[in-house]
Amino acid sequence: MLTVYSEKQLLHHPPKEMVIGRFIDYRETPSRAETIIKAIRDRNVGDVVAPVDRGLAPILAVHTEKYVSYFQTAYEKWIEIGGNPDGVFPDTFAVRLSQIYQDISDGGAGGRPGFFSYDMTAIIAKDTYTAAYEAAQVATTGAEILASEKRRAVFALCRPPGHHSSEDLAGGYCFFNNAGIAAEHLIKHHGFGNVVILDIDYHHGNGTQAIFYKRRNPMYASIHGDPDYPYFWGRAEETGEGEGKGANVNVPLPIGTGDDEYLAALDALIANHIVPYGIQALVVSLGVDTFGGDPVGSFNLTSACFERIGERLARIGVPTLFVMEGGYAVSEIGTNVTNVLLAFERAAGSQ
Ligand SMILES: [Zn+2]
Repeated sequence: MLTVYSEKQLLHHPPKEMVIGRFIDYRETPSRAETIIKAIRDRNVGDVVAPVDRGLAPILAVHTEKYVSYFQTAYEKWIEIGGNPDGVFPDTFAVRLSQIYQDISDGGAGGRPGFFSYDMTAIIAKDTYTAAYEAAQVATTGAEILASEKRRAVFALCRPPGHHSSEDLAGGYCFFNNAGIAAEHLIKHHGFGNVVILDIDYHHGNGTQAIFYKRRNPMYASIHGDPDYPYFWGRAEETGEGEGKGANVNVPLPIGTGDDEYLAALDALIANHIVPYGIQALVVSLGVDTFGGDPVGSFNLTSACFERIGERLARIGVPTLFVMEGGYAVSEIGTNVTNVLLAFERAAGSQ
C-alpha cells in the first residue's frame, strides 16, 4: 500500500498540555509519526511519497476563511502581545451555541484563540500552522492518488490529527480536518457519491460530524468510547439533520471494551449502515488509541485485533483511503497501524 508522508508534519511540537488540572508533556508528539513511518519501512508496507502542494483550496472547501486566516497569524500575534512562546492557549471560550456573543474573529490576539477553539489541547506553537497545512496536503494527495490512479487503498500518514476540528474550531489536538478534506476532494473532484468516513479512533470525531451533519454525502460513522472526551457529542441519537438525516451513525461503546465486543460492533455497523448506504469509497479515520495500552484511550483492544479490523475494512470492497488520527502508545503505534494496513492488503488481495 502506498503511503503519503511529509516530515514537515513533525515541526508541530508544543511542550505541555493540561490534563485534569496538571501540566504534562504533550502527548500528541512528533515521535508518533516517526514511529509509524519507521514501521511502514521496516515491514515493507509499500512505497512512501511526498504530498503535492495544492494550496489552500482543499482546506477552504471544509474550513472557513476567517478560521484559516486566524490560524495563519495566531502564533505571531500571540508573541506580539507577550504570550507564552510555548504556544497559544485560549483563556476564554465564546461558547457560541448557547450564548449571545460578539464576533471577534478579526479582534485581538488575547480573545481570538477562545473564539476559534473549544478546548486547550489544540495548542498553536511556532510551526503548528506549517505542520497542519502539510497534513491537509498529505490527506488531499492521498485522495487524489486513490482516485486518479484507481488504487485499492492509500495511507495518508497525517499529523497533527484532524477529526476533532470543525469548519472553524480547533480542539482535541486537531486543527484541519484531514479526513473531511480528503472526503470532500473525492466528492468534488472525482465525483464520488456515497462516500463513508468511518471513524475508528477511540474518540468520537465531533469535528467531522459537525462539518457533514446536514449532508447525505459523505456519511459519517463512528465507534468510540463513552463516556469520554469529547464528552458532549457522539450519542446514538445524533443521526444527522435535513438531507443528512440517517447519514450520521454513532456507536458508543463502554470503557474497557475488548476485541470481541469491538469487532461485533464493527460488523454490525458495516452490515446495517455502511453497505445499505451504497458505499462507493471509504475514508477511514484511523486512530489506534483503542489499543489496551493507550495512555489516552480506555478500550482494551490487542495488537492482533487491528489485523481483524483491517480484514473487515477490506471486505467492504471499495477504494479506501486511510487517514491517520490518534494513538498515543508510541512504542506500539507502529505495529498497530501497520497491522491494520497489512491485513487489509492481504484480505483485499485474496478477494
Ligand atoms: Zn483519539
